[in-house]
Amino acid sequence: MKVPQSMNTYCPHCRKHTEHEVSLARKGKERSMSLGRRKYREIKKGYGGSPRTPKKDVYKVAKRITLILKCKECNKKQQRVYESRTKKRVEIV
Ligand SMILES: [Zn+2]
Repeated sequence: MKVPQSMNTYCPHCRKHTEHEVSLARKGKERSMSLGRRKYREIKKGYGGSPRTPKKDVYKVAKRITLILKCKECNKKQQRVYESRTKKRVEIV
């Protein structure tokens, strides 16, 4: 799937249509000291297994695309999630 490098779309901060810079959303690095991680570590201590069910083999191939749109006027970012799924690699053209 091809995505344009910039698009004209609505900015909720400017309250009008402006030019936006497009980039792909990527998963950030996990923080080892976040509250959820700390709780999980505490539960995993000692006897007893994992509190979460183990992950099954991935059967979903197609993924939803999340774009990050950055307004060129106010420099604020917003996410746009597309409901349709794609198997193809997303590239910014
Ligand atoms: Zn804006």
